[in-house]
Amino acid sequence: MLYLDNAATTQIDKEVLAEMIASMEDSYGNSESKFYDVSERAKDRIANARGIIASSIGCESEEVVFTSGATESNNLFIKGYAMAHPERKTIIISAIEHSSIESTCAYMETLGYNVIRIPVDNTGKIKLDVLKESINDDTLFVSIIWVNNEIGTIQDINAIDQICSNAGVVFHSDATQAIGKVRINLNQYKALKFLTFTAHKIYGPKGIGTLIIRKENGCKLDMVPLLHGGEQEEGYRGGTLSNELIVGFGKAVELSASNLDSSNKHLLELENVLISKLQKVFGNRLSINNENFDKIPGLVNCKIQGINNMVLLKKIAPYIAASTGSACSVSKPSRVLKAIGMSDEDISYSLRLSLSCKTEIQELDIIELL
Ligand code: PMP
Repeated sequence: MLYLDNAATTQIDKEVLAEMIASMEDSYGNSESKFYDVSERAKDRIANARGIIASSIGCESEEVVFTSGATESNNLFIKGYAMAHPERKTIIISAIEHSSIESTCAYMETLGYNVIRIPVDNTGKIKLDVLKESINDDTLFVSIIWVNNEIGTIQDINAIDQICSNAGVVFHSDATQAIGKVRINLNQYKALKFLTFTAHKIYGPKGIGTLIIRKENGCKLDMVPLLHGGEQEEGYRGGTLSNELIVGFGKAVELSASNLDSSNKHLLELENVLISKLQKVFGNRLSINNENFDKIPGLVNCKIQGINNMVLLKKIAPYIAASTGSACSVSKPSRVLKAIGMSDEDISYSLRLSLSCKTEIQELDIIELL
């Protein structure tokens, strides 16, 4: 089977799995316990993974707060930051956020918050002038997705950071789809104090992610935890750490950072072959919704005129796994494709095909058999 749903989740890397198994076997202790081997080893393995994750994005180890994944990180940031700063009531996000930001902000609206959604152009880039005009004294934070999960658009994070820093507002970004594709160095930003990502999009395990919470002049930023409990994670999130998931996350980040350039090159080659094969099969019924976008390689959003996406996906499922868009919001027409100006009808003909750097070019031959 050809797996083309890597933006939803990836297969686990064998080296990652081996480290996780080793951790479960020899470091099963509670990392908060003291003196004995299996807990000391757990502590060391966690410290090592934390260090790898921190250095891969240019932050400090203590700024890495482990969570159960990007959904939790986004919830922790939005609700935790809002609770710690009750004096401000306006939240600014983009019109193309992942549902873990969009739905959490919709919930915040029910609590009386004002949520401004910055529109995007027809390539998915947010309108920077609208962002600039929207920030005022009531702005709690700005949260903008780094790379969109349906169309792959990369935002101009430098420009957004500059706007936020000039206005004195904190900036959070969901970098879940950026990790492993875009090099991130948090030291080059001023307002970008919070970053979300997860392990399972980079060949790591599911159920582990992080919210990066930067320190300001060595001081912790205020945030109310979602999970009150023990003193783990600097008090930002209680609960016994999952040694093996963290070890797997660290290894996945290490591999994705060191393979970033070769992986992107291979993804681009695969993308070109994929599109030419689709063209052979579907002729001029095929169009690429994210053609010439400033986007990550390996994520193709395409439309096959006249063929309902659900019907097609079901038919090809024994041979090819793909999706219509985000796995986290399947019941309605894509908000993201609507935001870039597509009609409901065109959206109903659209598919998201997301490649893996582990896919071999020959595996794409199966497309011609459709
Ligand atoms: N944000 C983005 C951009 C995503 O693509 C995803 C995964 N669908 C998430 C958040 C949620 O990640 P997780 O599954 O780790 O909660």
